[in-house]
Amino acid sequence: MARKIGSRYTANQILGRGSAGTVWLGEGPEGPVAIKLLREDLASDQELVGRFVQERTALLKLDHPNVVPVRDLVVDGNDLALVMDLVRGTDLRTRLERERRLAPEAAVAIAADVADGLAAAHAAGVVHRDVKPENVLLDMQGPLGPGGSHRALLTDFGIAKLIDSPRRTRATKIIGTPDYLAPEIVEGLPPRASVDIYALATVLYELLAGFTPFGGGHPGAVLRRHVTETVVPLPGIPEELWQLLVQCLAKAPASRLRASELAARLREQLPMLRGMPPLDVDEPDGEPEEPQQAPPAGRPQPPAGARRGAVPLVPGAKPDSNRDTHTSMRVPAPDELAGGARGTARAPRTAGAPRPGSARNRPAVRRRRLVLAGAAVVLAAAAGTGAWLVVSGEEAAPPRDPGSTAPAPP
Ligand code: ADP
Repeated sequence: MARKIGSRYTANQILGRGSAGTVWLGEGPEGPVAIKLLREDLASDQELVGRFVQERTALLKLDHPNVVPVRDLVVDGNDLALVMDLVRGTDLRTRLERERRLAPEAAVAIAADVADGLAAAHAAGVVHRDVKPENVLLDMQGPLGPGGSHRALLTDFGIAKLIDSPRRTRATKIIGTPDYLAPEIVEGLPPRASVDIYALATVLYELLAGFTPFGGGHPGAVLRRHVTETVVPLPGIPEELWQLLVQCLAKAPASRLRASELAARLREQLPMLRGMPPLDVDEPDGEPEEPQQAPPAGRPQPPAGARRGAVPLVPGAKPDSNRDTHTSMRVPAPDELAGGARGTARAPRTAGAPRPGSARNRPAVRRRRLVLAGAAVVLAAAAGTGAWLVVSGEEAAPPRDPGSTAPAPP
Protein backbone atom coordinates (compact mmCIF):
# COMPACT_ATOMS: atom_id res chain seq x y z
CA MET A 1 0.00 0.00 0.00
CA ALA A 2 1.41 3.38 -1.01
CA ARG A 3 2.07 6.02 1.63
CA LYS A 4 3.20 9.62 1.42
CA ILE A 5 6.55 10.53 2.94
CA GLY A 6 6.71 14.29 3.37
CA SER A 7 5.34 16.30 0.49
CA ARG A 8 7.69 15.03 -2.21
CA TYR A 9 7.91 11.26 -1.90
CA THR A 10 5.63 8.23 -2.07
CA ALA A 11 6.65 4.85 -0.67
CA ASN A 12 5.11 2.18 -2.85
CA GLN A 13 6.46 -1.22 -1.98
CA ILE A 14 8.65 -2.77 0.70
CA LEU A 15 12.10 -3.75 -0.56
CA GLY A 16 13.35 -5.17 2.70
CA ARG A 17 13.45 -4.81 6.44
CA GLY A 18 16.58 -4.04 8.41
CA SER A 19 17.46 -3.41 12.02
CA ALA A 20 16.75 0.32 11.82
CA GLY A 21 13.57 0.23 9.81
CA THR A 22 12.01 -0.67 6.51
CA VAL A 23 13.35 0.14 3.06
CA TRP A 24 10.71 1.03 0.49
CA LEU A 25 10.79 1.36 -3.24
CA GLY A 26 9.49 4.88 -3.68
CA GLU A 27 8.95 7.67 -6.11
CA GLY A 28 10.28 11.20 -5.88
CA PRO A 29 10.25 14.26 -8.14
CA GLU A 30 13.23 12.85 -10.06
CA GLY A 31 12.10 9.26 -10.38
CA PRO A 32 12.43 6.04 -8.38
CA VAL A 33 14.21 6.15 -5.03
CA ALA A 34 14.82 3.89 -2.05
CA ILE A 35 13.29 5.26 1.13
CA LYS A 36 14.51 4.02 4.48
CA LEU A 37 11.73 4.67 6.94
CA LEU A 38 13.19 4.47 10.39
CA ARG A 39 11.51 2.46 13.09
CA GLU A 40 8.88 4.39 14.99
CA ASP A 41 10.64 4.13 18.34
CA LEU A 42 13.76 5.67 16.76
CA ALA A 43 11.84 8.34 14.86
CA SER A 44 9.91 9.37 17.97
CA ASP A 45 13.03 9.91 20.08
CA GLN A 46 13.44 13.68 19.75
CA GLU A 47 17.00 13.75 20.98
CA LEU A 48 18.15 11.13 18.51
CA VAL A 49 16.29 12.74 15.67
CA GLY A 50 17.85 16.09 16.48
CA ARG A 51 21.31 14.62 16.41
CA PHE A 52 20.61 12.75 13.21
CA VAL A 53 19.32 15.84 11.46
CA GLN A 54 22.39 17.78 12.54
CA GLU A 55 24.56 15.21 10.82
CA ARG A 56 22.63 15.46 7.63
CA THR A 57 25.26 17.69 6.10
CA ALA A 58 27.92 15.02 6.43
CA LEU A 59 25.59 12.38 5.00
CA LEU A 60 24.42 14.51 2.11
CA LYS A 61 27.88 15.57 1.04
CA LEU A 62 29.14 12.03 0.53
CA ASP A 63 29.16 11.75 -3.23
CA HIS A 64 31.15 8.84 -4.60
CA PRO A 65 30.40 5.95 -6.98
CA ASN A 66 30.96 3.44 -4.17
CA VAL A 67 28.71 5.12 -1.63
CA VAL A 68 24.91 4.87 -1.89
CA PRO A 69 23.94 8.53 -2.21
CA VAL A 70 21.58 9.95 0.38
CA ARG A 71 19.41 12.47 -1.45
CA ASP A 72 17.16 13.77 1.27
CA LEU A 73 16.22 13.45 4.89
CA VAL A 74 12.55 13.81 5.68
CA VAL A 75 11.20 14.57 9.13
CA ASP A 76 7.43 14.52 8.89
CA GLY A 77 5.26 13.99 11.95
CA ASN A 78 6.26 10.61 13.28
CA ASP A 79 8.18 9.68 10.16
CA LEU A 80 11.92 9.98 9.81
CA ALA A 81 13.04 8.85 6.40
CA LEU A 82 16.29 8.72 4.48
CA VAL A 83 15.82 9.06 0.75
CA MET A 84 18.54 7.26 -1.19
CA ASP A 85 19.35 6.44 -4.77
CA LEU A 86 17.78 3.14 -5.69
CA VAL A 87 20.37 0.42 -6.23
CA ARG A 88 19.04 -2.29 -8.52
CA GLY A 89 20.65 -5.42 -7.22
CA THR A 90 21.19 -7.25 -3.99
CA ASP A 91 23.23 -6.89 -0.85
CA LEU A 92 26.51 -8.69 -0.34
CA ARG A 93 25.11 -10.87 2.46
CA THR A 94 22.53 -12.30 0.05
CA ARG A 95 25.23 -13.07 -2.50
CA LEU A 96 27.47 -14.64 0.12
CA GLU A 97 24.64 -16.82 1.38
CA ARG A 98 23.98 -17.97 -2.15
CA GLU A 99 27.59 -18.71 -3.04
CA ARG A 100 29.08 -19.48 0.40
CA ARG A 101 32.44 -18.05 -0.66
CA LEU A 102 33.53 -15.96 -3.60
CA ALA A 103 36.38 -16.41 -6.04
CA PRO A 104 39.31 -14.30 -4.80
CA GLU A 105 39.21 -11.96 -7.80
CA ALA A 106 35.55 -11.08 -7.22
CA ALA A 107 36.02 -10.81 -3.45
CA VAL A 108 39.00 -8.50 -3.84
CA ALA A 109 37.23 -6.36 -6.46
CA ILE A 110 34.28 -5.87 -4.12
CA ALA A 111 36.55 -5.07 -1.18
CA ALA A 112 38.47 -2.57 -3.32
CA ASP A 113 35.22 -0.81 -4.23
CA VAL A 114 34.23 -0.58 -0.58
CA ALA A 115 37.71 0.68 0.30
CA ASP A 116 37.34 3.42 -2.31
CA GLY A 117 33.98 4.40 -0.82
CA LEU A 118 35.51 4.47 2.63
CA ALA A 119 38.41 6.59 1.40
CA ALA A 120 35.91 9.21 0.25
CA ALA A 121 34.00 9.05 3.53
CA HIS A 122 37.14 9.28 5.64
CA ALA A 123 38.37 12.22 3.57
CA ALA A 124 35.07 13.93 4.41
CA GLY A 125 35.60 13.20 8.09
CA VAL A 126 32.99 10.44 8.31
CA VAL A 127 33.64 7.07 9.89
CA HIS A 128 31.06 4.43 8.95
CA ARG A 129 31.46 2.16 11.98
CA ASP A 130 29.20 -0.58 10.72
CA VAL A 131 30.89 -2.04 7.65
CA LYS A 132 29.48 -5.54 7.07
CA PRO A 133 28.10 -7.49 4.08
CA GLU A 134 24.53 -6.34 4.84
CA ASN A 135 25.61 -2.76 4.23
CA VAL A 136 27.27 -3.39 0.88
CA LEU A 137 24.88 -3.24 -2.07
CA LEU A 138 25.75 -4.70 -5.48
CA ASP A 139 24.60 -2.74 -8.50
CA MET A 140 23.47 -5.42 -10.91
CA GLN A 141 22.44 -3.06 -13.65
CA GLY A 142 25.85 -1.58 -14.24
CA PRO A 143 28.73 -3.16 -16.16
CA LEU A 144 30.56 -6.12 -14.67
CA GLY A 145 33.94 -5.54 -13.08
CA PRO A 146 36.87 -7.91 -12.40
CA GLY A 147 35.89 -11.52 -11.74
CA GLY A 148 32.37 -10.81 -12.96
CA SER A 149 31.67 -8.73 -9.88
CA HIS A 150 29.12 -5.95 -9.79
CA ARG A 151 30.00 -2.50 -8.54
CA ALA A 152 29.76 -2.42 -4.76
CA LEU A 153 28.30 0.54 -2.88
CA LEU A 154 28.46 1.11 0.84
CA THR A 155 25.25 2.19 2.54
CA ASP A 156 23.87 3.00 5.99
CA PHE A 157 26.30 5.75 6.95
CA GLY A 158 25.18 7.27 10.20
CA ILE A 159 22.51 4.68 10.93
CA ALA A 160 24.52 2.72 13.43
CA LYS A 161 24.85 5.76 15.61
CA LEU A 162 21.12 6.18 15.69
CA ILE A 163 20.30 2.65 16.74
CA ASP A 164 23.34 1.79 18.80
CA SER A 165 23.79 4.65 21.20
CA PRO A 166 24.34 3.21 24.69
CA ARG A 167 21.12 4.73 25.96
CA ARG A 168 19.17 3.03 23.22
CA THR A 169 20.92 -0.32 23.38
CA ARG A 170 20.18 -0.47 27.09
CA ALA A 171 16.58 0.49 26.56
CA THR A 172 15.81 -1.81 23.66
CA LYS A 173 18.60 -4.40 23.73
CA ILE A 174 19.47 -3.80 20.13
CA ILE A 175 22.81 -4.87 18.80
CA GLY A 176 24.24 -6.01 15.53
CA THR A 177 26.76 -8.76 15.06
CA PRO A 178 30.03 -8.25 16.92
CA ASP A 179 31.97 -10.09 14.18
CA TYR A 180 33.24 -6.89 12.54
CA LEU A 181 34.11 -4.82 15.61
CA ALA A 182 37.67 -3.60 15.86
CA PRO A 183 39.51 -4.47 19.09
CA GLU A 184 39.92 -0.83 20.08
CA ILE A 185 36.12 -0.42 20.15
CA VAL A 186 35.90 -3.42 22.45
CA GLU A 187 38.47 -1.70 24.63
CA GLY A 188 36.44 1.49 24.74
CA LEU A 189 38.71 3.68 22.63
CA PRO A 190 37.16 6.28 20.35
CA PRO A 191 36.40 4.95 16.88
CA ARG A 192 38.67 6.27 14.16
CA ALA A 193 38.73 5.59 10.45
CA SER A 194 40.84 2.48 11.09
CA VAL A 195 37.83 0.65 12.61
CA ASP A 196 36.32 0.63 9.14
CA ILE A 197 39.50 -0.87 7.71
CA TYR A 198 39.40 -3.66 10.28
CA ALA A 199 35.75 -4.33 9.51
CA LEU A 200 36.40 -4.34 5.77
CA ALA A 201 39.30 -6.78 6.18
CA THR A 202 36.92 -8.98 8.18
CA VAL A 203 34.41 -8.81 5.35
CA LEU A 204 37.09 -9.73 2.80
CA TYR A 205 38.21 -12.67 4.93
CA GLU A 206 34.58 -13.77 5.12
CA LEU A 207 34.09 -13.49 1.36
CA LEU A 208 37.14 -15.71 0.86
CA ALA A 209 36.58 -18.20 3.69
CA GLY A 210 32.80 -18.29 4.15
CA PHE A 211 33.11 -17.28 7.80
CA THR A 212 34.53 -14.39 9.77
CA PRO A 213 37.92 -14.71 11.48
CA PHE A 214 36.72 -14.19 15.05
CA GLY A 215 33.01 -14.99 14.90
CA GLY A 216 31.08 -17.82 16.52
CA GLY A 217 29.64 -18.64 19.90
CA HIS A 218 28.68 -16.15 22.55
CA PRO A 219 29.03 -12.49 21.50
CA GLY A 220 31.27 -11.90 24.49
CA ALA A 221 33.61 -14.58 23.20
CA VAL A 222 33.68 -12.88 19.81
CA LEU A 223 34.58 -9.55 21.40
CA ARG A 224 37.32 -11.17 23.36
CA ARG A 225 38.81 -12.89 20.33
CA HIS A 226 39.04 -9.56 18.54
CA VAL A 227 41.28 -8.35 21.34
CA THR A 228 43.34 -11.44 22.10
CA GLU A 229 43.51 -13.76 19.12
CA THR A 230 45.50 -13.95 15.95
CA VAL A 231 43.80 -14.57 12.65
CA VAL A 232 44.32 -18.10 11.32
CA PRO A 233 45.70 -18.35 7.76
CA LEU A 234 43.47 -19.56 4.97
CA PRO A 235 44.82 -22.51 3.01
CA GLY A 236 45.65 -21.64 -0.58
CA ILE A 237 45.41 -17.87 -0.20
CA PRO A 238 48.08 -15.99 -2.19
CA GLU A 239 50.73 -14.71 0.18
CA GLU A 240 50.46 -11.03 -0.79
CA LEU A 241 46.73 -11.03 -0.26
CA TRP A 242 47.17 -12.75 3.07
CA GLN A 243 49.71 -10.14 4.18
CA LEU A 244 47.25 -7.39 3.32
CA LEU A 245 44.56 -9.06 5.40
CA VAL A 246 46.90 -9.55 8.34
CA GLN A 247 47.98 -5.92 8.19
CA CYS A 248 44.40 -4.64 8.15
CA LEU A 249 43.33 -6.99 10.92
CA ALA A 250 46.19 -5.73 13.11
CA LYS A 251 45.20 -5.14 16.72
CA ALA A 252 46.96 -1.78 16.68
CA PRO A 253 44.87 0.69 14.65
CA ALA A 254 47.95 2.58 13.49
CA SER A 255 49.33 -0.54 11.83
CA ARG A 256 46.39 -0.82 9.46
CA LEU A 257 46.43 0.66 5.99
CA ARG A 258 44.43 3.73 5.12
CA ALA A 259 41.42 3.17 2.92
CA SER A 260 42.88 4.68 -0.26
CA GLU A 261 46.07 2.65 0.11
CA LEU A 262 44.10 -0.52 0.78
CA ALA A 263 42.01 0.06 -2.33
CA ALA A 264 45.13 0.54 -4.44
CA ARG A 265 46.91 -2.50 -3.00
CA LEU A 266 43.84 -4.67 -3.53
CA ARG A 267 43.50 -3.57 -7.14
CA GLU A 268 47.18 -4.36 -7.74
CA GLN A 269 46.42 -7.98 -6.85
CA LEU A 270 43.53 -8.43 -9.25
CA PRO A 271 45.56 -9.60 -12.31
CA MET A 272 47.23 -12.32 -10.24
CA LEU A 273 43.89 -13.60 -8.98
CA ARG A 274 42.27 -13.89 -12.38
CA GLY A 275 40.60 -17.28 -12.91
CA MET A 276 41.40 -18.54 -9.42
CA PRO A 277 38.53 -20.63 -7.97
CA PRO A 278 37.11 -20.00 -4.51
CA LEU A 279 39.41 -21.19 -1.73
CA ASP A 280 38.79 -24.71 -0.55
CA VAL A 281 38.26 -24.05 3.12
CA ASP A 282 36.12 -26.14 5.42
CA GLU A 283 33.83 -24.33 7.76
CA PRO A 284 34.67 -24.97 11.40
CA ASP A 285 32.36 -27.41 13.06
CA GLY A 286 31.75 -25.54 16.27
CA GLU A 287 33.58 -27.65 18.85
CA PRO A 288 34.64 -25.77 21.96
CA GLU A 289 38.37 -25.18 21.87
CA GLU A 290 41.17 -24.36 24.25
CA PRO A 291 41.84 -20.68 24.88
CA GLN A 292 44.85 -19.37 23.02
CA GLN A 293 46.40 -15.94 23.33
CA ALA A 294 47.70 -13.95 20.41
CA PRO A 295 51.46 -14.34 20.04
CA PRO A 296 53.44 -11.16 20.58
CA ALA A 297 54.01 -8.98 17.54
CA GLY A 298 56.54 -10.44 15.14
CA ARG A 299 55.91 -14.04 16.14
CA PRO A 300 54.77 -16.40 13.37
CA GLN A 301 51.06 -17.04 12.87
CA PRO A 302 49.70 -20.41 13.94
CA PRO A 303 49.55 -22.87 11.05
CA ALA A 304 46.32 -23.76 9.30
CA GLY A 305 44.48 -26.28 11.39
CA ALA A 306 45.66 -24.81 14.67
CA ARG A 307 42.92 -24.74 17.28
CA ARG A 308 41.59 -21.37 18.18
CA GLY A 309 40.24 -20.20 21.45
CA ALA A 310 36.57 -19.89 22.32
CA VAL A 311 36.13 -18.03 25.56
CA PRO A 312 32.53 -17.06 25.92
CA LEU A 313 31.67 -14.29 28.31
CA VAL A 314 29.19 -15.56 30.86
CA PRO A 315 28.14 -14.45 34.29
CA GLY A 316 29.55 -16.11 37.35
CA ALA A 317 32.91 -17.07 35.92
CA LYS A 318 36.34 -16.29 37.29
CA PRO A 319 37.88 -12.89 36.53
CA ASP A 320 40.27 -12.85 33.63
CA SER A 321 43.67 -11.93 34.93
CA ASN A 322 45.21 -11.33 31.51
CA ARG A 323 46.08 -7.66 31.39
CA ASP A 324 46.78 -7.76 27.66
CA THR A 325 43.07 -7.64 26.98
CA HIS A 326 42.41 -4.37 28.83
CA THR A 327 38.93 -5.67 29.48
CA SER A 328 37.16 -7.09 32.43
CA MET A 329 35.72 -10.05 30.61
CA ARG A 330 35.62 -13.31 32.44
CA VAL A 331 36.62 -16.85 31.61
CA PRO A 332 33.72 -19.30 31.96
CA ALA A 333 33.75 -22.76 33.44
CA PRO A 334 33.77 -25.54 30.82
CA ASP A 335 30.07 -26.26 31.30
CA GLU A 336 29.30 -22.63 30.59
CA LEU A 337 30.90 -22.63 27.19
CA ALA A 338 28.25 -21.64 24.77
CA GLY A 339 28.00 -22.18 21.08
CA GLY A 340 31.59 -23.23 20.32
CA ALA A 341 33.92 -21.53 17.95
CA ARG A 342 34.21 -21.06 14.30
CA GLY A 343 36.73 -19.34 12.21
CA THR A 344 39.34 -22.09 12.30
CA ALA A 345 40.65 -22.69 8.84
CA ARG A 346 41.56 -26.26 8.13
CA ALA A 347 43.51 -28.04 5.48
CA PRO A 348 41.65 -28.50 2.22
CA ARG A 349 39.23 -31.42 2.12
CA THR A 350 39.74 -34.21 -0.35
CA ALA A 351 38.28 -33.70 -3.79
CA GLY A 352 34.64 -34.70 -4.00
CA ALA A 353 34.16 -34.96 -0.25
CA PRO A 354 31.17 -33.01 1.05
CA ARG A 355 31.79 -29.78 2.89
CA PRO A 356 31.05 -30.70 6.46
CA GLY A 357 28.19 -28.88 8.02
CA SER A 358 27.45 -26.54 5.16
CA ALA A 359 23.66 -26.75 5.20
CA ARG A 360 23.69 -27.76 8.85
CA ASN A 361 25.57 -24.63 9.82
CA ARG A 362 23.33 -22.21 7.99
CA PRO A 363 20.71 -21.72 10.71
CA ALA A 364 23.50 -21.37 13.25
CA VAL A 365 25.16 -18.69 11.17
CA ARG A 366 21.82 -16.91 10.91
CA ARG A 367 21.18 -17.24 14.61
CA ARG A 368 24.55 -15.73 15.41
CA ARG A 369 23.49 -12.62 13.59
CA LEU A 370 20.39 -12.23 15.70
CA VAL A 371 20.02 -9.45 18.19
CA LEU A 372 21.52 -10.60 21.45
CA ALA A 373 20.58 -8.97 24.65
CA GLY A 374 23.61 -10.01 26.66
CA ALA A 375 26.06 -8.44 24.33
CA ALA A 376 24.09 -5.22 24.17
CA VAL A 377 25.22 -4.39 27.63
CA VAL A 378 28.80 -5.39 26.89
CA LEU A 379 28.88 -3.41 23.70
CA ALA A 380 27.13 -0.42 25.10
CA ALA A 381 29.76 -0.27 27.77
CA ALA A 382 32.56 -0.96 25.33
CA ALA A 383 31.40 1.54 22.80
CA GLY A 384 31.44 4.27 25.40
CA THR A 385 29.93 7.27 23.81
CA GLY A 386 28.23 5.33 21.05
CA ALA A 387 29.26 8.00 18.64
CA TRP A 388 28.70 6.18 15.41
CA LEU A 389 29.34 9.01 13.05
CA VAL A 390 32.58 10.54 14.01
CA VAL A 391 34.37 13.50 12.66
CA SER A 392 37.83 12.14 13.01
CA GLY A 393 40.06 15.14 13.14
CA GLU A 394 43.22 13.12 13.61
CA GLU A 395 42.73 10.63 10.86
CA ALA A 396 40.54 12.18 8.28
CA ALA A 397 42.30 14.19 5.65
CA PRO A 398 40.73 17.44 4.48
CA PRO A 399 37.83 17.00 2.10
CA ARG A 400 38.87 16.31 -1.44
CA ASP A 401 37.03 16.62 -4.68
CA PRO A 402 34.14 14.20 -4.81
CA GLY A 403 34.32 11.37 -7.30
CA SER A 404 31.94 10.96 -10.15
CA THR A 405 28.27 10.94 -9.44
CA ALA A 406 25.95 8.35 -8.07
CA PRO A 407 24.67 5.36 -9.98
CA ALA A 408 22.59 6.13 -12.99
CA PRO A 409 18.93 6.21 -12.09
CA PRO A 410 17.12 3.23 -13.47
P1 ADP B 1 20.16 -3.79 7.22
O1 ADP B 1 19.68 -3.05 8.44
O2 ADP B 1 20.12 -5.28 7.36
O3 ADP B 1 21.44 -3.24 6.70
P2 ADP B 1 18.60 -2.20 5.43
O4 ADP B 1 17.51 -1.65 6.25
O5 ADP B 1 19.72 -1.28 5.09
O6 ADP B 1 19.09 -3.56 6.07
O7 ADP B 1 18.03 -2.73 4.08
C1 ADP B 1 16.96 -3.66 4.02
C2 ADP B 1 16.85 -4.16 2.60
O8 ADP B 1 16.63 -3.10 1.69
C3 ADP B 1 18.07 -4.91 2.13
O9 ADP B 1 17.63 -6.09 1.53
C4 ADP B 1 18.71 -4.03 1.11
O10 ADP B 1 19.22 -4.80 0.08
C5 ADP B 1 17.57 -3.15 0.62
N1 ADP B 1 18.08 -1.79 0.34
C6 ADP B 1 18.62 -0.95 1.24
N2 ADP B 1 19.00 0.21 0.65
C7 ADP B 1 18.70 0.09 -0.65
C8 ADP B 1 18.86 0.95 -1.81
N3 ADP B 1 19.42 2.16 -1.71
N4 ADP B 1 18.43 0.48 -2.99
C9 ADP B 1 17.88 -0.74 -3.10
N5 ADP B 1 17.71 -1.59 -2.07
C10 ADP B 1 18.11 -1.20 -0.85
